[in-house]
Amino acid sequence: MGHANEYDAIVLGVGAAGSAATYHLARRGTSVLGIDQFGVPNNRGSSRGFTRVINPAVREKPQYVQIIQRSLELWNELQERHPNQLICKTGALRGWTGPDYEGHRDSLEEAVELCESQGLPYEVLAGEEVERRFPGYDLSGDFRFLYQPDGGVLDVPECTIAHMNAAHDHGAEIRAHERVESWEPTDAGVRVRTTRGEYEAGKLLVTAGPWLSEVVSDLGDVTPRRAVMGWFRPEEPERFRQDTFPSFGWDTENGYFYGTPAYRIDGVKVGGATDFESETTVDPDGMDREVTREEEGMLRQFMEEHMPTAAGPTLRLTACMTTRAPDKQYVFDTYGEGSDVYVAGGFSGSGFMTASAVGEVGSKLVLGEATDVDLEPFRASRLSSAGPGVS
Ligand SMILES: Cc1cc2nc3c(=O)[nH]c(=O)nc-3n(C[C@H](O)[C@H](O)[C@H](O)COP(=O)(O)OP(=O)(O)OC[C@H]3O[C@@H](n4cnc5c(N)ncnc54)[C@H](O)[C@@H]3O)c2cc1C
Repeated sequence: MGHANEYDAIVLGVGAAGSAATYHLARRGTSVLGIDQFGVPNNRGSSRGFTRVINPAVREKPQYVQIIQRSLELWNELQERHPNQLICKTGALRGWTGPDYEGHRDSLEEAVELCESQGLPYEVLAGEEVERRFPGYDLSGDFRFLYQPDGGVLDVPECTIAHMNAAHDHGAEIRAHERVESWEPTDAGVRVRTTRGEYEAGKLLVTAGPWLSEVVSDLGDVTPRRAVMGWFRPEEPERFRQDTFPSFGWDTENGYFYGTPAYRIDGVKVGGATDFESETTVDPDGMDREVTREEEGMLRQFMEEHMPTAAGPTLRLTACMTTRAPDKQYVFDTYGEGSDVYVAGGFSGSGFMTASAVGEVGSKLVLGEATDVDLEPFRASRLSSAGPGVS
């Protein structure tokens, strides 16, 4: 390539995954253009807000452990070249409510098996031990916990900025506030039309988050869902700091809740869904971003029952989108056999912590290099209507 508006690769969507992919492509010497319809970073896509949890055994498949472990290496590497904090090791606590310690995602037993088989450090803790070590908790009921010392918290905007800046350092170009309206295959790769111009590239990587199925028309089963988060000011802040309170994810009888210690603002973050299976599919351009009193009440109730002194005044409430395939596994593949188009999306509620490795694997996929991660479970062809299509 080399002419104006011609690149080796275009990355469509510069959120968590796209900023990482743009960096890794540029780092490999590729001329790359990243395009986003909003700013980088922005508060309209999934990579919004302040923090995301790192939970090393978050999913039931070993492939995810491999991706998360590589992500941790890459986040730490990126940290070395970035002046502001990206990652904070707080430990991660996964909780299950008794008596069977089963949840929406997995059971304590499955999580322990995964840690054993993958060599991840962990401890199984009873409620009393959790209260002793982390005095922010005040538990009454039958709970068991998996504590992972390697868990932590990522700073959302800072991570995206760090990837963007590092991509620029390696010669990448990033264009924001430019919506891709269509793309089509050409003899030499792909032509992309935006609200501001037309670009050609040998390859196109689509990392459009909640808009994925709008950009690649045959991935209609990969849909965005609405999720809410709140920040509440604790009465005793010293119990909810990064060094006294681990990030958490918790299966309760009322749904799945997760959160982080106070970070950036003086509030403990909690997010959740009362009915994990039936979160509503939303239109990414028209989603209602107001959090209702009922939703706020659901978050507050979780805190009052498990960490009552954290349930102080409400500081902030937001609604965000997670995007997932029906089987809740990632979609990470070539978009049609022999095509020059690739897709990476459907990251559900765990796509931030894995974004750095997703970016690296995505860059290898685009450049035809072998990847260490087994991408078989993430093939687009497993989805009923998947196949090549032009938006
Ligand atoms: C409430 C909530 C809590 C979460 N908690 C966690 C957590 O604790 N840990 C964790 O690891 N993950 C978590 N996640 C998931 C994680 O945030 C997402 O998986 C991740 O941010 C997805 O990144 P992405 O790059 O795929 O999508 P996005 O960040 O949405 O990026 C996609 C980008 O593509 C752009 N785009 C789309 N269409 C076009 C177009 N036509 N033209 C140009 N640009 C386009 C968009 O503007 C957007 O910027 C959570 C998500 C939510 C909503």
